Amino acid sequence: MRAIATEEQQTALNIPSRSNIAVADRQHYQGKIYQHEKRRCGKTACRCSEGNLSKVGHGPYWYAYWKENGRLRSQYIGKRPPWELD
Ligand SMILES: [Zn+2]
Repeated sequence: MRAIATEEQQTALNIPSRSNIAVADRQHYQGKIYQHEKRRCGKTACRCSEGNLSKVGHGPYWYAYWKENGRLRSQYIGKRPPWELD
């Protein structure tokens, strides 16, 4: 795995922490923040609804976060982050 450009350019995103999301990792890449997250889907019958979120949650999957017109945007990325794809 090649080195990730560490552009600590104060990406002040203030991603709100939510009770249904456990963040396992966080990386800066090409102006966005990527979080490796396990999530509860919200279905009460699902196996993820009980227990330790970092164990029973879905994933982990990568999500991208960035700001657009002053608003926080997010996007589902998947199992592999963009810096592992090329
Ligand atoms: Zn679930």
